[in-house]
Amino acid sequence: MLEVQNLSVNYGVIQAVKGVSFNINQGEIVTLIGANGAGKTTIVKTISGLLKPKSGEIIYQGNEIQRNKAPQIVQAGISQVAEGRHIFAGMTVMENLQLGAFLQKNRAEIEHSYAEIFQKFPILKKRRNQDAATLSGGEQQMLAIGRALMVKPKLLLLDEPSMGLSPLFIQKIFAIIKELNEKGTTILLIEQNAKQALAIADRGYVLATGTIQLSGTGQELLTNPEVQKVYFGG
Ligand code: ATP
Repeated sequence: MLEVQNLSVNYGVIQAVKGVSFNINQGEIVTLIGANGAGKTTIVKTISGLLKPKSGEIIYQGNEIQRNKAPQIVQAGISQVAEGRHIFAGMTVMENLQLGAFLQKNRAEIEHSYAEIFQKFPILKKRRNQDAATLSGGEQQMLAIGRALMVKPKLLLLDEPSMGLSPLFIQKIFAIIKELNEKGTTILLIEQNAKQALAIADRGYVLATGTIQLSGTGQELLTNPEVQKVYFGG
């Protein structure tokens, strides 16, 4: 579904991503794990068209997309939940969701998307007329995921969805990711929470200082002694 080939991305003279290659097959959950500054967010932003690569290709469903603009990439079926959630304060839950529907023109389709999202996240329905800023961290993360789902993406990019959440909400978010995948959404999951990400992933890649160091199935990486030492603290 998605193939990243020899991708390099710079910020000025800083080389954040150095010749990274990986792929995501339709129906998979693929996780990219790695320490702070490894280049994970940079990769996600480049796939979603917010950054342009210095070199390399991103091929989505057979087409090169690395020169496409972000709205075009969303239209093609790739939706992103950015790190830090970016909920719009001063706007209600409904209004935040509406922003996710910017590409949809058909009112009935938009209503259908709301209904689906409220079914997945009953708490959002309950809080639909509330200022989004008053939601808890976990509820905001659900709203951010809900907003990304308004366009019914084929490929969902999740950048650190568990960040800053309580253990209970982390469990909930991972369960939601698994369920979305089971219902047909392909997922690229960026996580610092390596253990839980690998546990639900079909495959994973370990990124360090802008390069891929290891790859394998979720299970292989979970039991890899090097991964255990560096990422699970023991
Ligand atoms: P984290 O888990 O901390 O978000 P990450 O793996 O997502 O880390 P990136 O945010 O992709 O890492 O950053 C990769 C490298 O690029 C880091 O060295 C970072 O300091 C640098 N970097 C990121 N954004 C910028 C920017 N806007 N300008 C300059 N350097 C940047």
